[in-house]
Amino acid sequence: QAKKVGGTGWARHTPVEAETLQRTRRLENDMRGALERGEFFLVYQPQVDLKTGTIVGAEALLRWQHPELGLVSPLEFIGIAEANGFICDLGRWVLEEACREAADWPSRYSIAVNVSVAQVARSTITQDVQYALQTSGLAPSRLHVEITESTFALDTARLLQDMTQLKTLGVVIALDDFGTGYSSLSYLADFPFDVVKVDQSFVRKLKDDAASRAIVHAVTGLATQLGMTVLCEGIEGEIEWRLLSAIGCQQGQGYCFGRPQPATAFREAIGVTPSGKAIPALRKG
Ligand code: C2E
Ligand code: MG
Ligand code: MG
Ligand code: MG
Repeated sequence: QAKKVGGTGWARHTPVEAETLQRTRRLENDMRGALERGEFFLVYQPQVDLKTGTIVGAEALLRWQHPELGLVSPLEFIGIAEANGFICDLGRWVLEEACREAADWPSRYSIAVNVSVAQVARSTITQDVQYALQTSGLAPSRLHVEITESTFALDTARLLQDMTQLKTLGVVIALDDFGTGYSSLSYLADFPFDVVKVDQSFVRKLKDDAASRAIVHAVTGLATQLGMTVLCEGIEGEIEWRLLSAIGCQQGQGYCFGRPQPATAFREAIGVTPSGKAIPALRKG
């Protein structure tokens, strides 16, 4: 849209828009080389059993350490990578890296990997997952594939087919950010999800908002009856932890239990030495 700029003539964008666009172009230009230069890395956030607070696994979250722009959030670059198709290569790298890391953990810990909308639509997700499992030696049941429900705005028939194929590999499938965006209760019945991740926006309002409590309660009841595990995101305080535990949510994730952390720090949290051996008796301090 053409906009009049201070009498000096026509510009297509305001200064702020131009700056955003320039940054987007920069990230888009740099991302392919960034993967080759090793600027992407994964951090791991604990997922816990809400009854005991015990770690049951981790979610792998992608980070980009840009040499000039610093740490860039996935909220900023995933969308760009989806738009230009780079998400396929990037997503493949994430799968392989996360599976390789988790293969060194004791087998009771799972690893959750985010899979993007466009990755499912554009790529060979089943083959990618199969390859990552084979090369890492990770047991399929330890891999949780987190799909964000905005995916459902796209080709649902194709998605159902991909999910069914993934299930035959033996991986666990989680519905991420449930309750936001294109949310619908019927997804829970129509797609073979094993885990429902209740979005952090509900968890944040839990203390003060009876409606949020009612929603989480209802979703937990429904998901449990359908045989799914409920995992609540964004648990920051013990009050929320207690509330969610009382509601009957089985698992949780959030700053209350641990921030996303480098692989070495997560290994320490689960008592694994850098060499990959489990420490017989975990000592602290
Ligand atoms: P997500 O999968 O829903 O991940 C949870 C986000 O919530 C993460 O943000 C995490 O750092 C943040 N979080 C965790 N606990 C708390 C808490 O207690 N309080 C608050 N306020 N936030 C918390 P992050 O790492 O910035 O990632 C944002 C989103 O980017 C992810 O949301 C996911 O959709 C996407 N993403 C991250 N890594 C990947 C990836 O490897 N592939 C794809 N396709 N998407 C990714
Ligand atoms: Mg996720
Ligand atoms: Mg989420
Ligand atoms: Mg999200």
